[in-house]
Amino acid sequence: MTQTISINNSQKLLIEPLSMPSRLLLGPGPSNAHPAVLQAINTPPVGHLDPAFFAVMDEIQSLLRYVWQTENSLTIAMSGTGTSAMEATIANVTEPGDVVLVGVIGYFGNRLVDMAGRYGADVRTITKSWGQVFSLDELRTALETHRPAILALVHAETSTGARQPLEGVGELCREFGCLLLVDTVTSLGGVPIFLDEWGVDLAYSCSQKGLSCPPGASPFTMSSRAWEKLQKRRTKVANFYLDMTLLSKYWGSDRIYHHTAPINMYYALREALRLLAEEGIENSWQRHQQNVEYLWQQLEDLGLTLHVEKEYRLPTLTTVRIPDGIDGKAIARQLLLEYGIEIGGGLGDLAGKVWRIGLMGFNSRKENVDRLVAALRQVLP
Ligand code: PLP
Repeated sequence: MTQTISINNSQKLLIEPLSMPSRLLLGPGPSNAHPAVLQAINTPPVGHLDPAFFAVMDEIQSLLRYVWQTENSLTIAMSGTGTSAMEATIANVTEPGDVVLVGVIGYFGNRLVDMAGRYGADVRTITKSWGQVFSLDELRTALETHRPAILALVHAETSTGARQPLEGVGELCREFGCLLLVDTVTSLGGVPIFLDEWGVDLAYSCSQKGLSCPPGASPFTMSSRAWEKLQKRRTKVANFYLDMTLLSKYWGSDRIYHHTAPINMYYALREALRLLAEEGIENSWQRHQQNVEYLWQQLEDLGLTLHVEKEYRLPTLTTVRIPDGIDGKAIARQLLLEYGIEIGGGLGDLAGKVWRIGLMGFNSRKENVDRLVAALRQVLP
């Protein structure tokens, strides 16, 4: 064969096999994956229509129902990070003109606002200053005023470290005839969640925080009420990849191809969920609470101030005020480069004002708190 086009080698790199520094990931996520999960991801892939793989999918569905405490039959893992499952909740139940009320307590509430707008919703918002949460009375007043088709709340606002209580909200939503959509990205696995008890209709999460997995396979669930709204749509779901009418045929008994599943990510997720079931979800919640209380005490002993009122603090993510006169970014950089520990900085309204410290999943351990606090003692003036 005569070659008429010459090869452009300008981007060709002859490089060493991948080698990355070892890090203790104590930021807002990702957190370190459990070693057994990393081992599972190395399992050679089978095909996405292999009965052996369907068995893995079924196990994932069941274990996700367990960790979320729901019986929702449509409970699956989306191929993608938390944002894909987040967008799936909005895309499937939002029709142009639907009133979607978003409770904004931080950065990720604003992301829901953006997404709902993109799907043609008439988006309304209620807001709180960053670090605070809504009371049931405030939510009732907002539902009376806006009469939405969907109320969207963030259970664990990663940008602020605040936990939005959900008890009673589902009943309110039923009283006002709307669906309740909840972001559980930073709560699943580490913070008590009772989706069915709380009357949550749509929820999503991620793999890289409380589930001790790498990012890339994201839990999604919808109730029969939400499924009914999807069935009654006048318009097609405006997103092929996230369409539950199609995805349910792959995850359900039809087993119809929709897209190639990220096989190895599902191996990882299955192992992560298996480990959580072995520990017991209630024990995991308790472990997160115990270790974070130890962290809070240690940080306060260092003279630092925590941003969120104790009652509403997340066990998975703590926001710490950066003391006056300290360069927060420089401290975080020093922790990373000299001690191999990643913590996060502030986002949005809290940019430059807080550090964000995550103790999630496999990383929620006393020894990690001790390692961080010892490093902080060295780097803080
Ligand atoms: N929602 C919340 C509360 C989050 O913390 C995040 C990410 O940290 C997301 C949504 C988006 O998830 P991802 O970054 O995995 O796409």
